[in-house]
Amino acid sequence: MDDAPRHARQRLVAGFGGEAQARLRASSVLIAGCGALGCSIADQLVRAGVGRVVIVDRDVVEPSNLQRQSLFTTADVGTPKAVAARARLEAVDPSIRVEAWVDSLDRESIEDYLDGIGLAFDGFDAMEPRYLLNDACVRDGRPWVYCAAIATHARAMLVRPGGPCLRCVWPDAPPVGALGTCDTAGVLASTVAIAAGASVALGLPVLAGATPAVPALVSVDTATGSWRTIAVARDPACPCCGAGRFEWLDGDAGSGAAVLCGRNAVQIRPAVESMLDEAGWLARLAHAGSFTTGHGLVRGSVDPSLTGGLQIDLTVFIDGRAVVHGTSDPAVASAVCSRVLGS
Ligand SMILES: [Zn+2]
Repeated sequence: MDDAPRHARQRLVAGFGGEAQARLRASSVLIAGCGALGCSIADQLVRAGVGRVVIVDRDVVEPSNLQRQSLFTTADVGTPKAVAARARLEAVDPSIRVEAWVDSLDRESIEDYLDGIGLAFDGFDAMEPRYLLNDACVRDGRPWVYCAAIATHARAMLVRPGGPCLRCVWPDAPPVGALGTCDTAGVLASTVAIAAGASVALGLPVLAGATPAVPALVSVDTATGSWRTIAVARDPACPCCGAGRFEWLDGDAGSGAAVLCGRNAVQIRPAVESMLDEAGWLARLAHAGSFTTGHGLVRGSVDPSLTGGLQIDLTVFIDGRAVVHGTSDPAVASAVCSRVLGS
């Protein structure tokens, strides 16, 4: 199909003419997390004609996602988000190369997913992985776009090589639980759309070849009607872009347990990647309850006799990563995994 009619209205905008459109077609982006922000960002980038979109997300579509995660429909519930997003985006524009990876972005995997990427977009639902993405991008001299949405608050900031970076603005991640999450504070679809729109507004010109504007943090609160652009400056003492210490990328491994936002669920990562396939996992779990396979994962309910009477549902990915549904306590989740999976 001739792309000219598809992008005709965009081409009329200053900075998005023929040469810019060719640059977009030749560019690659990473969508780091495909929840609400990632859905909206990816949708805009594919429609804009970005040639290659790499989506990484570890989760599956849940009914509570459908209020704001705009690439998913009721029929996608239970499908990995990356897989469902790719199907939708390929329907939007089959000429775009969309790659879907059902995986966590962590210090072991992030460099691989950033390989060949011109601009990374933050679709995370927590601060810690943003610091990891910041470390990886600053070290490689790769631009990325910070993006966050909670309740009625939306934020976005383009982080360019040379800074200022995320740690120039917020030197340290807040303690776990210090900030609200979509689980505790909620989030509106309108907030998501504003944050994602601001991210793409900051990032798309970079892909199209424009020189970015003055570094700034876009901050919106729709509850108060506050729309602000806050100037940010590089901190010469920044541990990341100043001192070149990449503490999130090079630090010690974490506990392996992560409470999932918006869900009564905990993710457990195995110390060593599994070598089992779906059938192998099904056989392993045969004693533990009622399980079925599909889409590269095994799902089911754990026999309450193995959980101290708790109603626990388990999703196991073939790399051995597990999501324990029915608890937000990492210790309980770890105990269930230890008992049922041996990890
Ligand atoms: Zn910095």
